[in-house]
Amino acid sequence: MRGAWWADGVHFSCQPDCGRCCDEPGGIVYLSRNDVKRIAEHAKLSVREYLKRDCTTTLDGRYILRSNQSDGICIYLDGKKQCGIYEVRPQQCKAFPWWAENLRSKRSWNKVKSSCPGLTAEDAILIRGEEIRLHVHSDRQSTQGFRIWEDA
Ligand code: SF4
Repeated sequence: MRGAWWADGVHFSCQPDCGRCCDEPGGIVYLSRNDVKRIAEHAKLSVREYLKRDCTTTLDGRYILRSNQSDGICIYLDGKKQCGIYEVRPQQCKAFPWWAENLRSKRSWNKVKSSCPGLTAEDAILIRGEEIRLHVHSDRQSTQGFRIWEDA
């Protein structure tokens, strides 16, 4: 990642009441073990209860967040386009827009730029390359996901 085009930083500031990145049907949010522990605790459920209630699995068995059956959008996005679990949201959501697949090329980045107003906003602040690198790492880690939950 050294020498990446974003290494000197990129301007960004997530815009309140936007929610565009979550308002896409068919998005897949992979979950890490820490994600499900944190969100289950917030929901006052055991991890097993939480996995059963709000999660499903990909064809290869990794746990992901469930989407609405009607529109394919994340079950936590409310009518005001706000995340119902924002304080404890999954690592992958936190890492947006700094996903490896978005940063891979100028072409993929321009696509993200045209859909995320936070990247062109007047109040956007410089996010340092080092911080972006940590987000990329965290996104990669959660994409690996997990397939089996074992209580400690
Ligand atoms: S699309 Fe961009 S500005 Fe809008 S909620 Fe997502 S990250 Fe924030």
